[in-house]
Amino acid sequence: MTALNAPEFTDETAAVAHVEASRWPDGVNCPHCGSVNVHRMGGKTQAGMFLCNDCRDKFTCRTGTVMERSKIPVHKWLLAIHLMSASKKGMSAHQLHRMLGVTYKSAWFLAHRIREAMKLDDKPAPMGGEGGQIQADETYYGNTSKRSKSYRKGLKRKEAILGVVDPDTGEARAFHMELGAGVPVVREIIVKHADRASVLVSDESKLYTKLGKEFASHETLLHWGHEYVNKNGFTTNNVENFFGTFKRGMRGTYHFCGSQHLQRYLNEFAFRYSNRSGLGVDDVARAALILKGAEGKRLTYRSPH
Ligand SMILES: [Zn+2]
Repeated sequence: MTALNAPEFTDETAAVAHVEASRWPDGVNCPHCGSVNVHRMGGKTQAGMFLCNDCRDKFTCRTGTVMERSKIPVHKWLLAIHLMSASKKGMSAHQLHRMLGVTYKSAWFLAHRIREAMKLDDKPAPMGGEGGQIQADETYYGNTSKRSKSYRKGLKRKEAILGVVDPDTGEARAFHMELGAGVPVVREIIVKHADRASVLVSDESKLYTKLGKEFASHETLLHWGHEYVNKNGFTTNNVENFFGTFKRGMRGTYHFCGSQHLQRYLNEFAFRYSNRSGLGVDDVARAALILKGAEGKRLTYRSPH
């Protein structure tokens, strides 16, 4: 673990140099036009600024990333990324607000932008493949009792979540679905994220019956029968494990979230699960992945995914 007093977390010049090195390992290029014909501007007020000699636009290491248009110094961004990357259960906006010395509102936006950097690419490679397997399962999140915290937080009903895990690579992906989403929705998600040359492992829910025939084979476990391993040795333990981590983190750290934000929290937990220490990804490598993910993404609060 990088010490919390490392230069990139405390000194703005060191932080900017860290982000520039991550973003442009082979030399700076212009985010507007791609030109490498750029030069660093001089003077204190233009610290960290470049000018593109081709399109004549100015840019910094923040341009075109989730850090763009934020007034929070880069070293605080890097510390926030490190904290969210290193905390297994997530880091609340309250904790970030105290640790970074920024307002609660700034911490809240910062955390959501970092979740955006943890999001999957738009066209992620399918998991599994020939000889591999994919575990799929659904779970429900929230409590509809009016006295419950989740209800008061704006979650007026239970929300459905579909989890897809590749137990060989350890990767997890999770999706917020409309409640009562049927076979077409589940199929669309699974065929997008799982290679159909894999074995599909699920419970006996009708959601998977037809879909299972599209896969190399379909292994099922009894839903209510407390069957943990089926007769061929297949389980859905990994995806259940992921759901457990997600729900414990949400209860302990975030105290539930509104349904409009659920996908963002799923992205966060799926990212950390897929890049966990047990898979050989340490805190530093995980934070570096988030920083790479911060490039080329801007957050729109309207879109649920
Ligand atoms: Zn340019």
